[in-house]
Amino acid sequence: MKGDILLGIAGLEAAYGKIRVLHGISLEVREGSFVTIVGANGAGKTSLLKCLMGLLRAKGEMKLRGKSILYLPAHGRVGLGIGYIPEGRHVFPELSVEENILVTATRNRSVRREDLLERSYSLFPRLGERRVQAAGSLSGGEQQMLAFARALALDPSLVIADEISLGLAPIVVDRLFEVLIALRDRGTTILLAEQNAKRALEAADRAYVLEAGKVTIEGEASRLATDPKIVEAYLQNL
Ligand code: ATP
Repeated sequence: MKGDILLGIAGLEAAYGKIRVLHGISLEVREGSFVTIVGANGAGKTSLLKCLMGLLRAKGEMKLRGKSILYLPAHGRVGLGIGYIPEGRHVFPELSVEENILVTATRNRSVRREDLLERSYSLFPRLGERRVQAAGSLSGGEQQMLAFARALALDPSLVIADEISLGLAPIVVDRLFEVLIALRDRGTTILLAEQNAKRALEAADRAYVLEAGKVTIEGEASRLATDPKIVEAYLQNL
């Protein structure tokens, strides 16, 4: 139900070999909200999202709708309604736009291929115009749209997105944020890690600041956007 805790983590820790990168992270994402995690390069944003997707082993508590998902493999988490947009887009370069979108559908036979494609192209008409083009030959912005379309194809209840604006033209970034906000407005829950703190704080309801693997500040995004500490550290030079 809207407002209930959809995703909750507490005391989460993770490491690459012996190097610990997350040091006891706790956060909550409420159903229907848009939450952002901001922080500098290397703060641990990507590592945290990988833990949430089951791509990096974590210790601590991690619950979706009150049930632990800590030991669930990535595909199990997708099956529970989590859509993931990884950093760096990761489309299949040799496959066409259409094939990239349909790759997701092979696991879920209840979805009609036509509906899946239709949904993607209505969100991003540009992809419809390029449906047979190899994904590797798309522009950076188009590849990011494709990564969005693929993650959204199965209509996830929680979208986890990593650094959506990196290296993209402002007009494309505007469109991607518009899509996330529209999804939130129709009830989808959003968790976005983003280095572009200005855009992220404008779009989100709540925010967490991550520094060296720890949450240092949390609160309403609009309040954080005017917090002098945040303005000085993350917003001044934008
Ligand atoms: P960025 O915005 O630059 O991606 P981030 O906040 O997402 O930064 P992470 O990518 O999670 O940060 O990195 C957190 C720490 O973990 C960094 O010190 C990084 O060097 C380290 N790290 C990330 N991936 C690995 C890896 N595969 N092996 C070893 N250390 C890693």
